Amino acid sequence: MDKLTIRDIDVAGKTVLVRVDFNVPRDAATGKITDDNRIVAALPTIKYLLDHNPKAVVLFSHLGKVKTEEDKAKNDMAVVAPALAELLGKDVKFVPVTRGPELEEAVKNAENGQVILVQNTRYEKGETKNDPELGKYWASLGDVFVEDAFGSVHRAHASTVGIPTNLHPAAAGFLLEKEIAYIGKAVSDPERPLVAILGGSKVSSKIGVIENLLGIADKIIIGGGMAYTFNAAKGLKIGKSLLEADKIDLAKSYIEKGGDKLVLPCDTVINNAFSEEGDIKVVEGDIPDGYMGLDIGPKSIAAIKKELEGAKTVIWNGPMGVFEMPTFAKGTLEVCEALANMPEANTIIGGGDSAAAVKQLGYADKVSHISTGGGASLEYMEGKVLPGIAAVDAK
Ligand code: AMP
Repeated sequence: MDKLTIRDIDVAGKTVLVRVDFNVPRDAATGKITDDNRIVAALPTIKYLLDHNPKAVVLFSHLGKVKTEEDKAKNDMAVVAPALAELLGKDVKFVPVTRGPELEEAVKNAENGQVILVQNTRYEKGETKNDPELGKYWASLGDVFVEDAFGSVHRAHASTVGIPTNLHPAAAGFLLEKEIAYIGKAVSDPERPLVAILGGSKVSSKIGVIENLLGIADKIIIGGGMAYTFNAAKGLKIGKSLLEADKIDLAKSYIEKGGDKLVLPCDTVINNAFSEEGDIKVVEGDIPDGYMGLDIGPKSIAAIKKELEGAKTVIWNGPMGVFEMPTFAKGTLEVCEALANMPEANTIIGGGDSAAAVKQLGYADKVSHISTGGGASLEYMEGKVLPGIAAVDAK
């Protein structure tokens, strides 16, 4: 990897500023954290830093969206401090402000690896605008910067880009390092064959990924709701399946450009209602009027398994059907299982629904990498330069 990581920097006696992702889901009524996965995911980096005798580890993160004063009360980072302290087994000093003497004194007076958690970065209007003064100010508080909030690196904000613009060394934490090692490598220098499996509801949300991967992958397998726009482009009837009429021409161009590389489902599980009740059957080719495709069929599943044979890198993003309904989850489940049974390959799961499916089905430790960022992983797979990664120093 050509980026500096925390293993390359000396943090002894230093104040280390870390951009983490503590944007945890909370119960709307009680405000309590409902899933602490993101805090748990940040622990290896924080613990590694603490093991290397820093003066202080100062943690920055956003939490929810903050537009009004009411949003501030709803998204107070204070809720994270006790959860983090318990997971770390160590006292965490929460600073309820994002600037000023209280923050500056807390950092200045810290010693022996004190962990400091700063208030929600989005309390500052300048955060999402990457206000240069704000990035410079936060940078002035520390000696070293660590970027570890992969889920936020596609955004050029003061905490993700402003700080490392002004503070060096700026290194990647373990979470970010893993995303670069897997997704970054898969889209820049993959071990081949590289097979991409793309699903989900819309062609429009995956245009960038399809375009980029058409130039990189050895095979692109399309499934999910977006497959019907491709089928429509081929002249097939799709009944009342999901369709993006304004993307038919684009789908046509991908089919032409992709040739054998692009693999579309050859059969479909259909129903006459968006429901688990009704006239459910499998068809090949045209979908009759009044019916909609809700999952890929058994022949398509078998074809995907065949395409996966011998693959060295697999990228998967988006479910193969309406997996929220168990009747139409088979395609997604079987893809999941197939990837879990490829120990020789780099199996990479994009964030969002596919990541949730892999975890829910108990395959999390059977795949190589589950991305921690939804939007960020999509943009990374689109081949875009993510500003928060660009801001990390080269080795
Ligand atoms: P996305 O957010 O674009 O990744 O899409 C995920 C959503 O696509 C899930 O909620 C699935 O239920 C939905 N989806 C997948 N296949 C289909 C389909 N055949 N018809 C309608 N929705 C689908």
